[in-house]
Amino acid sequence: MNKKIIILGSGESGIGSALLAKQKGYDVFVSDGGIIKEHYKNELIKNEIEFEEGGHSELKILSANEVMKSPGISDKNELVKKIRNVGIAVISEFELAYRYKGSSKIIGITGTNGKSTTTSLIYHICKHAGLDCALVGNIGYSIARQIAEAPKEYYVAEISSFQLDDIQTFRPDVAVLLNITEDHLDRYDYKFENYIKAKFSITKYQTEDDFFIYNADDEVIQKYLQLLTIHSNPLPFSMRQEIKKGGHIKGDQMMTRIQEERVSMSIYDFALKGKHNQQNTMAACIAATTVGIRKEKIREAISDYAGLEHRMESVASVRGVEFINDSKATNINSTWYALESMTKPTILVLGGTDKGNDYSLIAELVKDKVKAIVCLGVDNEKIKTAFKKIAPKIVETDSAAKCVAACFKLATKGDAVLLSPACASFDLFKNYEDRGKQFKAAVLAL
Ligand code: ADP
Repeated sequence: MNKKIIILGSGESGIGSALLAKQKGYDVFVSDGGIIKEHYKNELIKNEIEFEEGGHSELKILSANEVMKSPGISDKNELVKKIRNVGIAVISEFELAYRYKGSSKIIGITGTNGKSTTTSLIYHICKHAGLDCALVGNIGYSIARQIAEAPKEYYVAEISSFQLDDIQTFRPDVAVLLNITEDHLDRYDYKFENYIKAKFSITKYQTEDDFFIYNADDEVIQKYLQLLTIHSNPLPFSMRQEIKKGGHIKGDQMMTRIQEERVSMSIYDFALKGKHNQQNTMAACIAATTVGIRKEKIREAISDYAGLEHRMESVASVRGVEFINDSKATNINSTWYALESMTKPTILVLGGTDKGNDYSLIAELVKDKVKAIVCLGVDNEKIKTAFKKIAPKIVETDSAAKCVAACFKLATKGDAVLLSPACASFDLFKNYEDRGKQFKAAVLAL
């Protein structure tokens, strides 16, 4: 009899898993408490995969051999609790995909910030070097679907902590851990430790044949390295100390070394600017070296990479005022790095749905670099209180157009306007992409 697998959730991960499981001979049933998107429904019908929406058939689900839980579904969900209570194995999409990847290699990238940037950069380098590779994971394309529809020799995968929660054997050949700061604690019983362990589980099943690239300057990572046993080859990177195996930046030079392969490069030749991106670029360079890409190819790709939308994206210069869209900065740590990289007097746009920010973390940078703060949000009280003694001026706005107009009025030639809000966007926008797009449209309409 076929193994019965239930797919809980019908987003990109759920549908990708359903397609792969069906292809591999499982008895598949997709169950979504909400509505399944039309194009996904059509795919399920076309592939003769059974599904339900707007509720869950508990009996059917509880008779499964295995459940693939989509990353968006919390363990607090009553149905998930019941599934676990009766002892049915719960796996993530990466666990399922891993079973069928064959001899292909996986470069997996995780961390609190910088995942999408680093994943895309590694993919760009791999592509530039002519590897047969795909960009998958949290970034929007399901790895399970990729394996079902177009298997590749390399998968460059952005992996969230939720995707790592339910793995049993999954091990990337190359794991990258960029940083760990508090985020998503609502999903981890408000225990930072649980979130840290989820991030570290990217290394859990790695062996001595694998590589573990990590940020040696990150105190949380350093602390847990002492507490956990990791079997793969450590390749740390640092901006503060020289590293013999791994990489570091000293002055304006990046140097990496993996076995006998060395790459050195001036940070001024990196396409991505800012300290955070120096870390991302160094991690990408090390990762590319581990899969045998030649240094000339790495250097070329690092210097011509176009970057991602909504991450320190240069929008336009209008009468000498530069506008930068960093709408993806939805926590204070991201905004810290954005501000840190600013070299011009800055009008900073902050605000939205606060996820528990401690604004004192950016107080010094605001003092040094910010001419005015323009709030873009419904409730700006916390920001006003935090910066009233520090920022020379604070203005409140409640739409992208009003915000851009206010910024332009406050700015003079040679200034920069930085949208790096440190907050989620749901009070005024659909999501961070919508916020970034509306901001850009308003700038271009000036
Ligand atoms: P993620 O996919 O992890 O959310 P992104 O690459 O989309 O990360 O970047 C999100 C934001 O985080 C960016 O706007 C940028 O300001 C900030 N950021 C990028 N890389 C880092 C890093 N290495 N450390 C801290 N912040 C970063």
